[in-house]
Amino acid sequence: MNYKIINGAILKSDPEKLYTLSEDLFVVDGKVYENLPEDVKEEELEIVDAAHHLVMPGLINLHTHAYMTVLRNYADDVDFDEWLFKRVMPVEDRLPQEGAYWSSLLACMEMVRTGTTCFNDMHMFRGQSARAAADAGVRAFIGRGLVGEDLYVDGASRFEDCLEEQKEWESSKLLKFVLAPHAIYSCSAKLYEQVAREAEERHMLKHTHLSESDVEVANCLEKYGKTPVEFLRDTGFLDEKTILAHCVKMQGEDISIIAEAGSTVVTNPASNAKLGNGFAPLHKFAESGVNLCLATDGTSSNNTLNLFREMNLVSLIHKGLAGDSTMLPADQVVRMVTENAAAAVGMKDQIGTIRDGANADLIFVDLNEPSMFPNNNIVSSLCYSANGSEVDSVMIDGRFVMRKREFVTMDGERVRFEVQRIVDKYL
Ligand SMILES: [Zn+2]
Repeated sequence: MNYKIINGAILKSDPEKLYTLSEDLFVVDGKVYENLPEDVKEEELEIVDAAHHLVMPGLINLHTHAYMTVLRNYADDVDFDEWLFKRVMPVEDRLPQEGAYWSSLLACMEMVRTGTTCFNDMHMFRGQSARAAADAGVRAFIGRGLVGEDLYVDGASRFEDCLEEQKEWESSKLLKFVLAPHAIYSCSAKLYEQVAREAEERHMLKHTHLSESDVEVANCLEKYGKTPVEFLRDTGFLDEKTILAHCVKMQGEDISIIAEAGSTVVTNPASNAKLGNGFAPLHKFAESGVNLCLATDGTSSNNTLNLFREMNLVSLIHKGLAGDSTMLPADQVVRMVTENAAAAVGMKDQIGTIRDGANADLIFVDLNEPSMFPNNNIVSSLCYSANGSEVDSVMIDGRFVMRKREFVTMDGERVRFEVQRIVDKYL
């Protein structure tokens, strides 16, 4: 179906600022246009009345573990070791493949409900988050978490999972696959080198956790005599196709090493605070020119996948920390989950923006909701006032996946039933 969207306020951008204007938008064959392409007849378009709605690019969550959604609120207010080793990992070991599927589908429901149209996922269950994203009609970058000493020996079966799922979904317009070594404490230098080479040859993105906790940094310094960032640099893993989640505990030259490599930093403020890991030095990253993005991490350490909440949190935390009310203004924060994230995944001008020929990944935000009214500054309201519930409709690749707050591609009742079944049996 092709659409003409009328009466909406459209979120546009130039390098200086985000702004809104009222104009018609056309969605033809999954792409957005400001003017109707010549070969399309206007009378064949379905009219979408977006009166009192902001039409903006869908949000991009650059670091998730969708399969963990079943663990929401399952292990809170405990120390990190208890959380990971005694609570989370035993359930991961018990969870069946189909459990990961339903859990990932629930993740897609929550993301769509709160305006996220694309996520970058690190998972443990071959094919399940891909299947969930495809069924939900959500755009996703998916990486099997890799661990081990050698990609072709003890890491081989997981690497094979990556390649198999990439092959299986080769024809998908929405799914792309990335190489995702888990972390420097679960992967050797050799494995990171091998992954860097494979990614280069296969033109794939790389995604890993980095410098999340004091323990990680201390152990790395003791074992290798290097910081985690130096360790990764020396494996050849850091370049402009690398996405680094967390980067909380930056030492010495770490930030300039990341900036020089052109890698993307994804901050996860709720997860870092909740697990007691502190706050990433975002003001220094911003000064260094690093491409800075925002994510929720998994629901067992957040405990939501709601990027509106995360936008609010990241701006407020860092204003407070820096004692500087000009830190991370709304404009910058909105770019972190749109344009910056699109650049990180190599889709600049294709997603995270509204412009001629971009993919029609659009969300409709109700500006008449009490939390959004009056509309004195719409960009500010996205960062400081919205809580995600104002998202009324979501379109991905030109297809509505939620319309007037009703899911189109997902059966909410079925997903809840299946997730409850998994909880009762395996948690
Ligand atoms: Zn993570």
